[in-house]
Amino acid sequence: MRLENKVALITGAGSGIGRETATLFAREGARVVVVDVNDAAGQETVSMIEAAGGQAVYVHADISQAADCAKMVRTAEESYGQLNILFNNAGISHINDDNAETTEEAVWDLTMNINLKGVFLGCKYGVPALRRAGGGSIINTASFVALVGAATPQIAYTASKGGVLSMTRELAVIHARENIRVNALCPGPLRTELLMKYLNTEEKRQRRLVHIPMGRFGEAREIAQAVLFLASDESSFVTGATFMVDGGITAAYVTPE
Ligand code: NAD
Repeated sequence: MRLENKVALITGAGSGIGRETATLFAREGARVVVVDVNDAAGQETVSMIEAAGGQAVYVHADISQAADCAKMVRTAEESYGQLNILFNNAGISHINDDNAETTEEAVWDLTMNINLKGVFLGCKYGVPALRRAGGGSIINTASFVALVGAATPQIAYTASKGGVLSMTRELAVIHARENIRVNALCPGPLRTELLMKYLNTEEKRQRRLVHIPMGRFGEAREIAQAVLFLASDESSFVTGATFMVDGGITAAYVTPE
């Protein structure tokens, strides 16, 4: 097993990428701290892990709140004695996030508070815990939109993910000598709730698919496999990376018909 004796905390583990990663990590031997604001969904992830013979605990935490982030890290150490892997994954894509002229200030603030400040707060409380464990791995979920712009804008979301990417590089450099690795994961467009509620017509979905060389949306489990690599000791010399898992979207200028 690739994560034996490790303790992993995953935010947004009630759905999509977070849930797939939580169940995969547990299968690979990790004890998992499942964090979400959706209690029913988070508890369901724990039940799935336990039904498969794994160990997990649920914590309600809103990652935009410092006290909640302190609590989730504390729970990891109190429940399992240490924290080795921190997956700052939770994020939102607001339905009214559009261009600079039309996006409300409140939508901008909410998006930044969860997507960007939430990663900062996860690290603020998570880094000391990883240090106490003798080192570890942090994976921050950015996005392919941190690297390329789109004519169908989500201005706040895109800016927040750019922030996650640059913050990750700096964290990696600061903590490199402490045996704490920090990498940014950049998923391409996925067939999860987050994107499909935004691409809610066939026309919108096709408009996006045109730009993906592989000609399909990714699956959350394909992202989870990349997170597993970054979390495990197999990636021991990888830090500060911009890890693309995007079906080739950022490599493309013109895609095949
Ligand atoms: P999802 O909506 O399926 O799951 C996100 C989870 O985060 C939900 O369970 C939600 O309840 C939880 N959450 C939301 N706000 C929270 C908060 N304040 N505190 C704690 N938990 C909170 O999304 P997903 O598709 O699995 O996306 C996960 C991450 O991947 C996000 O950061 C997203 O921006 C990023 N991403 C997704 C795609 C995609 O196409 N789906 C592409 C690139 C990046």
